[in-house]
Amino acid sequence: MQTPDPIKPESYNSDVFPTWCPGCGNFGIWAALKMALSNLKIPPHKVALIFGVGCSGNFANFVKGYVFHSLHGRALPVASGAKLANSDLHVIAIGGDGDGFAEGLSHTIQTIRSNVNITYIVHDNHVYSLTTGQTSPTSLKGFKTKTTPEGSFEYPINPMALAISAGGSFVARGFAGEIPHLSDLIVQGIQHRGFSFIDVMQPCPTFNPQLSYDWYRQRLYKLADQGYKPDNRHKAWDIAQEEISEKIATGVLYQEQRATLEDNFPQISKTALVKKDFSGVDIRQFLGQFK
Ligand code: SF4
Repeated sequence: MQTPDPIKPESYNSDVFPTWCPGCGNFGIWAALKMALSNLKIPPHKVALIFGVGCSGNFANFVKGYVFHSLHGRALPVASGAKLANSDLHVIAIGGDGDGFAEGLSHTIQTIRSNVNITYIVHDNHVYSLTTGQTSPTSLKGFKTKTTPEGSFEYPINPMALAISAGGSFVARGFAGEIPHLSDLIVQGIQHRGFSFIDVMQPCPTFNPQLSYDWYRQRLYKLADQGYKPDNRHKAWDIAQEEISEKIATGVLYQEQRATLEDNFPQISKTALVKKDFSGVDIRQFLGQFK
């Protein structure tokens, strides 16, 4: 694949224009990701984009790179495998709140713990949208849908608290309506050495119109504007406890440097597995152990 020069956001466009609904927050995340990759000068053939299932998963059709559209909730194990096989690639997993906090919840927790050096962007629209509007794990209490006509009874999962308590080394929240700010968060996430978790507040005007762009803007504030430093897990925890129905902090809540999953494997910590020379390796003895 030839590297376009210079690498512009349009360099990541596929031949298919997005089919998301007009006003969908996915457009903002799509633009922010392309802007981030362009700013980092990462050509499409150096990035692997692994998708779950949902409206966000349709992103797989609208972006250029090594793209894999996985099963529901299974983006993270595929992304981890891609990184372990070729650590020279920038690996970005993308899914929705249902994908990451219901079908794939265990994968989310285990991958955060592993600290594999990939980025995970959650399109958090607080609803199952591809299946035309059911409550998701992050739906606000009282949210009325076809499946909850009396309103959701359950307390929503708190992605920031979840990631911090699972040992997240980079925990951030963005907003699809603030593309430059979100793009900067994605840049920081990609540059972070370890697992970077970015939960994005994503309006879905079709199936969750209550949480409109205005609804978010009335509650959003930027941590950086307050001189916040993301180096204290306890302070990050306190911010994560803020109810998003009242106020929504955006920016990096917590960041620390520690060994990545790859660092624990001397076989791949310095050289990507795909670049190893296995020509002299006889695997028959290894395979014999499985007889
Ligand atoms: Fe976007 Fe919602 Fe339409 Fe899906 S249903 S494309 S999330 S606006």
